[in-house]
Amino acid sequence: LINFQYNHVLVLGLAKSGEAAAKLLHQSGVQVRVNDQKPYEENPQARTLGDLGIDVITGSHPMSVLDDIDYVVKNPGIPYTNPIVKEALRRGLPVVTEVELAYRLNGDNMIGITGSNGKTTTTTLVFEMLKASDKAAKLAGNIGKVACEVAQTTKDQETMVVELSSFQLIGTEIFKPHIAVFLNLYEAHLDYHKTMEHYGWSKSQLFAHQHADDYLVFNADQEIVRELTSSAASQAVPFSLERKEPKGIWCDEDYLFYKEECIIALDEIMLAGKHNLENIMAAVGASKLSGATNEGIQQVLKTFSGVEHRMQFVKEVQGRKFYNDSKATNMLATKNALQAFKQPTILLAGGLDRGNALDDLAPYLKNVKAMILFGETAPKFKQLAIEYGIETYDVVDNVKQAAEKAYRISEEGDVILLSPACASWDQYRTFEERGDMFMDAVHTLK
Ligand code: ADP
Repeated sequence: LINFQYNHVLVLGLAKSGEAAAKLLHQSGVQVRVNDQKPYEENPQARTLGDLGIDVITGSHPMSVLDDIDYVVKNPGIPYTNPIVKEALRRGLPVVTEVELAYRLNGDNMIGITGSNGKTTTTTLVFEMLKASDKAAKLAGNIGKVACEVAQTTKDQETMVVELSSFQLIGTEIFKPHIAVFLNLYEAHLDYHKTMEHYGWSKSQLFAHQHADDYLVFNADQEIVRELTSSAASQAVPFSLERKEPKGIWCDEDYLFYKEECIIALDEIMLAGKHNLENIMAAVGASKLSGATNEGIQQVLKTFSGVEHRMQFVKEVQGRKFYNDSKATNMLATKNALQAFKQPTILLAGGLDRGNALDDLAPYLKNVKAMILFGETAPKFKQLAIEYGIETYDVVDNVKQAAEKAYRISEEGDVILLSPACASWDQYRTFEERGDMFMDAVHTLK
């Protein structure tokens, strides 16, 4: 751990990230104490760490866990209103998340990716593009391992591609990626951040400590992103769908460019959707800057069909294309999905009812010829179908039946899209489970 002059560290909140942080610090010879709400008996991580000889306090958060502590690593999900966190800050202690440790361990060669939407997709694309270019790379984040765990096994020549949430970025001190990617900023997560200013500030921690020899790839089509990034000391690499960006990534009607170099024809790209084109431009920028080849990039873009459950192309059956967008747990995601297709579309939607009206979806239903509905919100979707004049709609019990029903009423050339616009918890444990059931059903269609 570079420049790490602290001796007594409290790891607050266990789960994957806390466990990895505690182990790393323990191995580095630092005195570690961990504190987690969950009782010892139900806490496998606490037991593992206890066995290593780490001081483990479970079941509550007594203020005494801060005794003698000079540094706090907290789980990104623990809010700043937590009394221990508040007291630590009052005492002037640094309160960080595990990405700060990852940086201090092995931060020279890091690509850090953030934004309200598209993080996992872009992170995966960059990682795949580097691999396809025979560059050694490691993936960290939502779909990979925790960053500070990955940092421990990353060698000097390897690039670490890290997905970063704003919750992680708030907890940074000297952290900086060599290549930062800022995808977009939407009014999500406002319940945690309270204001857009704070949300913007948290995202700006991505590049706040960058130097002149670092890079910042950013969405030049969003004014708020342009404004926030204008203060960065690093080299600007803008991407845009709206205009030519001679120093960045851009598209004309038919091709995608990196500076003046033509990278690929748009109709050769497998991934659907304008929003994914933004993710692709960002990924091309970051991977080119870290030495990816055009061949490697092309190979990925011609074959990559999406991260699981995110606009993932499943299969074509008798001329019908099936897509799994089970991760679409809100209306913005389903709007994106619907905009991705010009073909007649059968939409499979429904799930947990959060009390929202669905009217916002209406302008996006142009190509929707039928709706197959399930879950708590099925009646609301049915109402939407009636109001919008979609004549074919049906309510079924689950996504398996929805896939079968959609197939029965479909014609050659149709898109059959699971993009529920709702969380899955009324019927499924996770959106992954919902997506898996859908895909299983598609694979057994005749
Ligand atoms: P994240 O990791 O930020 O949650 P994902 O890559 O998992 O993002 O994508 C989740 C959903 O967000 C997608 O299914 C899509 O509907 C939407 N999305 C993805 N990329 C973008 C983007 N660039 N702009 C707007 N929405 C997007």
